[in-house]
Formats: sequence, structure tokens, C-alpha cells
Amino acid sequence: MASLYATLLADARFHELLLAFDADLADAARAGRCRHCDGALHSAKFKRKPRGRGCKLGPEHDQRFSFCCARDGCRTRTTPPSLRFLGRKVYLAATVVLIAIMREGATAARMRQLSALIGVNRGTVERWRAWWRDIFTASPFWQIGRAAFMPPVDPDRLPVSLIERFNGGGRERLLALLRFLAPITGGDRRAR
Ligand SMILES: [Zn+2]
Repeated sequence: MASLYATLLADARFHELLLAFDADLADAARAGRCRHCDGALHSAKFKRKPRGRGCKLGPEHDQRFSFCCARDGCRTRTTPPSLRFLGRKVYLAATVVLIAIMREGATAARMRQLSALIGVNRGTVERWRAWWRDIFTASPFWQIGRAAFMPPVDPDRLPVSLIERFNGGGRERLLALLRFLAPITGGDRRAR
């Protein structure tokens, strides 16, 4: 499973798929109105410099879809959910998920392989582990979302214990998990 996930991160088609999902989420957000004043929304993409890909991609992959209220004096920003960007993290959502998964039971040799592929060091991996264990489990999103899983998901083994609950091969499971996480990736800071 671990090597399959590593292959996905290096597969440009997988990243194209994530971009297509994000474009759909952006279209849905654009169809809405400003949450403050009901004004129209204009495109206001912003540049990100995401790390943690195993392949080269075009500049469109470095943009986060976002919108700005068109009304003077409001200009409130609306950032739709994303399957690529996990909040303000500089690493791709898929990377944060996959590294945490691959870390479980990882040998020193495998960790070296990962570091070479994605360019993460042990400290980063440990920070992500702490994020899953402490920040994610304490979030209002997970406090509510975990009720959907029976028997309960083991919080000490996140995100492995979570991705195991989705059906299909590695790619389908990863997509399902990224979709599940999408609500905490958007512009609503309280959810993070
Ligand atoms: Zn507005």
C-alpha cells in the first residue's frame, strides 16, 4: 500500500484529477454569493508554493481558487474547499495524509526513500503526526464527523484508521479521504 501511495504522488494524472475536483468546487462557490452582503463573487486566485509533489506540473497547480466580493467596502474573500490544499499548510493535502500513513511502521530505509521523493525531514513528519493526533482530533469538524464511523475510528492511528474505512483501491480511498477532509480546507478559519 505504501509504495502505491508514493507512486500516486509522483503521478501527474493524479494531480490533474485533484485540480479538476478543485475547479468543480470553485464553480460551485462562484455560483453562490458573498456571505456578508450577498454581493457577486469575482475570481481572486492566489499563488501557493506547495511542496510535496513527486512530479513536475504546470503553473495552474500553484494557484488556489479563491473569490472576492465585488462590492466596494466589502471585498470579503471566499475560499472554497480544496482536495489539494489543506488550510495554510505548505505541503499538499495528499502529502500530509500519505506521509502520515506511510510513517506507520516505516523502516529507516523507507523514511529515507520518502525524504528523497518529497523532500521532507523527520521533524516535519513528526509535526504532521502531532497535527493529526492533537489538532485534528480536537477540531469541531472531527468532533462531529467521527460520529459517522462505527465502530469508532482509533484516534491514535489517524489517518490510517480513517482511510481504512473507505472502499476501493489506494487511489479511490485517498480521494474519498480528501473529499471527507474538504470542509476543513476552505476559508472558514474556525473550522481549522
Ligand atoms: Zn460582500
